[in-house]
Amino acid sequence: MRSQPENSPRRASAPPLIEFLRQNLPIVVFLGLAFAGMMLVYWYFSPDENAVDAITAVSPTDNYLAAPIFKNIPAKPVVQRLPQSPGPVLVGIISGHRGFDSGAVCADGLTEAQVNENITDLILASLQSQGIRTEKLDEFDTRLDNFSGTALISIHADSCDYINELATGFKIAGSAFTNSSDLSICVEQAYAQATQMEYHANTITPDMADYHAFRQIAPGVPAIIVEVGFMNLDRDMITTNAQVPATGLTNGILCFLNQYKNVVTATN
Ligand SMILES: [Zn+2]
Repeated sequence: MRSQPENSPRRASAPPLIEFLRQNLPIVVFLGLAFAGMMLVYWYFSPDENAVDAITAVSPTDNYLAAPIFKNIPAKPVVQRLPQSPGPVLVGIISGHRGFDSGAVCADGLTEAQVNENITDLILASLQSQGIRTEKLDEFDTRLDNFSGTALISIHADSCDYINELATGFKIAGSAFTNSSDLSICVEQAYAQATQMEYHANTITPDMADYHAFRQIAPGVPAIIVEVGFMNLDRDMITTNAQVPATGLTNGILCFLNQYKNVVTATN
């Protein structure tokens, strides 16, 4: 009991509030930390003043105590789970030499450009009548740059000079930049069937295989160049009977579009 009187004067000398806090030091520390923590959280989540103005700005017409809720969401790359659906079908047809030169010229003045355009127009009319979107293109059409249709077909015809009895038949060369074999096979089969012409494989020139349009169009667009026949020995077929080769080419394009649609449906 003697030790207590020594302590009691000191305890009595401190103000009661300090004394109380000292006695409950752990709780005081806890409350202090909790307050600091809450302030930190408040500061961290408070929008800056401009944002507050924007959020609380209520136009006079909105005569009510409400404000839109804004939340800043960081930009996140969107991952597409389904393959992108293909664009609508579009077939580009180059009317060979159109807008550039006449191509081969016959003794009587018939030009390759005329033969090509006649057949091109018949194909376009036929495709359009079946609701297929088409584009008629010149030889060096500016629309060829990055052309991104479903297929591109260029129509040409071979020389009007008499070479020999073998200078007859049609030729097809596919793009070296995009796999065009499906289009090529469809058109070759349909063309041979419609015209009963022979495939003239021996005279495919570098001009055909390395055709300028193949380089211009968008990657991935199947493209072929067709020499519909020789203007000398096949002249009747590609002029007077132009509807026949045009039908063959149209059927070939439709065959390819059918395959294309089936592939698209299967991958979806
Ligand atoms: Zn030509």
